[in-house]
Formats: sequence, C-alpha cells, structure tokens
Amino acid sequence: MPPTPDGSVDYPLCTTPDPGGWQEVAPGVLWIRLSLPFQLDHINVWALDGGALGWTLVDCGLGDPRSRAVWEVLLHDALGGRPVERVVVTHFHPDHIGAAAWLVERTGAGFAASLTEWLVARTLSAGNDAATDAVVEQFYRRCGLEEDTLQSLLARKGAYSRGVPAVPATLTRLRAGDRLPVGDRHWTVIGGSGHTAEPVSLYRPAGGGSPDLLISGDQILPRISPNISVWPSEPDADPLADYLASLEGWSVLPADTLVLPSHGRPFHGLHRRAEELALHHGERLAEIETLCAAPRTAAAVTRALFPRPLDPQQMLFAVGEAVAHLNHLIRKGRLERTVGPAGEPASLPPADLYRRPAAIAAA
Ligand SMILES: [Zn+2]
Repeated sequence: MPPTPDGSVDYPLCTTPDPGGWQEVAPGVLWIRLSLPFQLDHINVWALDGGALGWTLVDCGLGDPRSRAVWEVLLHDALGGRPVERVVVTHFHPDHIGAAAWLVERTGAGFAASLTEWLVARTLSAGNDAATDAVVEQFYRRCGLEEDTLQSLLARKGAYSRGVPAVPATLTRLRAGDRLPVGDRHWTVIGGSGHTAEPVSLYRPAGGGSPDLLISGDQILPRISPNISVWPSEPDADPLADYLASLEGWSVLPADTLVLPSHGRPFHGLHRRAEELALHHGERLAEIETLCAAPRTAAAVTRALFPRPLDPQQMLFAVGEAVAHLNHLIRKGRLERTVGPAGEPASLPPADLYRRPAAIAAA
C-alpha cells in the first residue's frame, strides 16, 4: 500500500496494530496500541528495547482493570517476559500515566517524568478538597455556562482519580536536554509546554538502521489539534503562547523525522504539521477577535467555535480551549475582559465578558 497523504503529513507505515496489538516501527522500537473508552478511542504507547537491562515503556494507558489485563498479555507476548527497566510518561493525562503505578509495582521498573507532570498527577489523583471544588465552580460560572451544562461539568468530579487511581511515589526527574540511555543508544529529552505545563518528548537521531525518531506525546499530533486549555487552578494562564513557541521549536529537528504520536499513526511532515497547527490557532484567534466586536462570554465563544453537541468531557476541553485563546488575546492587548452584570441569585459570580478595546474597535 502506498503512503497515504493526509493534509500536511504522510504515513509511511502500511499497517496499524489492533487494540492490544503491537508492531516494530524501527529496530528495537515497538508501537503498541491500547483502546480507550472515549471518543478518542486509542492511545499509542512505545516500548524501547534496552537489551540486557530490559524495556523502557513510554506512556501506559488508563489505570483501569481492562488496561491492566491487556498489559499482562503484552508483558508476556510483546515484551517476551523480559524485565522492564523504566516507565516514562510524557505528561500527566490519565491515558498516559494511568497504569504507571501498577506497571511499576508489577514489574519493579523505575518511573521517569518531568517534575511538574509528576506533581500535578500526584495532586489530582489525591482528589479535590472543598476549596478546590469552590474554585472550579467559580471558574465555570464566570465562563457564563448554562446551569445544566455547568452541573454536568461539576458532576465529573473524581474523574481523574478514576483513570489514575495511584501515581508512582518516587521519580527519576526528566529535564529538557537530558540524555536517556536505552541499550547502546541515547534518546534526548525535548521540553515544551502548552498541552500541559511540562510535557516531555523523546528524540533519537538516525543510526543503526533506524530513521530519526521523535516520540512526541500529545505535543504534536497528525490529525487532531492537541487540546490547549486554561483550567480553574490557573485562570489567567496563557498556555497558547507556550504552545506556539513549542511548535516553532520543532524546526531544529530534521524535516524527515519519523514522528511517533500518542494518537493517530506515525507520520512524516513534522515541520509542515507544526506550521499547519500554528496557522489553525492563528485563524481561531482572528475568528474570536471578530466575534468579540460585541461583548461575549467564554461560553458564547465556545459555542461559536464548537457548534456540534459536546459531551461533558468534550465541553471541558472546549471551554478550556476557548479561554486559552481569549487569555492569549488579552495578553496581546487585542481583547479586554470585564465583569458582566450580576445574575440571579445575586450571590453567584457574574460571567466575564470579553470585548475588543474601544481603540481597536474604532480602528
Ligand atoms: Zn494529553
């Protein structure tokens, strides 16, 4: 089968593993596919053969009984019953880190991640206290969501700890620029920010019959735009600025690097895809600026950007993404935020309104 063109990228591999299956994508690098019970129905995880020391696993799926059962088979079949040296996670999201604590305990592996991702996972997995719940509710009320939507989001309380019942208690900290030895080769840790605060990607230059490889996590994906969201814990954050800077950073890697993403298929076209994603966000920003010629709530902007029906999980990502673009425009001086009129009952915080500053609107 010839490579399949798909927008700015192409896919050099002809086959995709079934859920729970695997295939070798380069010497000593296994692509394992795990299923997910979401609309995004799979995650790719990677097993790197470290020879006598055993395997390095990169990401590991949810921490639910189904994932654990699949891993029991994979440890025996795909990994041949050989030891696991370490589990690396690219970032704290449940589909990436969920099974890590179990895998570490089950195999005796070490655990490696960036400090920030590990701390966030530890905090969220422990569950929210009442003060945090109050902050969450206030944030979504200020977004101007209708009451039933708001309640469906608040009802998701505890979703993180269901996907991530435990997080490894000790860490080997990964920092940008670190070299991670696997067998007789090294992978270089690439930093970044945007999708989460301190995700890691892993890069290995060509050699030994292997092309340049990049395990990108969710920082760059072939078909979907990684979610860039503001969350209640840091309501004034500008993760989009970080993400756009990270997209520029990919230009230092060779253009023909084979990218191994967490979702979708391995692809060529790293530089083109980075440009396409930057363009996508640029278009979104322009669209929002136009919308906010008249004052809008974040909820109104969300509905304009994502007009299709959204389940509560998708709604969380959609609102977060809308606020990320709004905050970025505020930082750039293109929008201003004011507090809207008080609602009913008066004890509830009014929704914020976003609008173009008078000087820009008049220009
Ligand atoms: Zn993610």
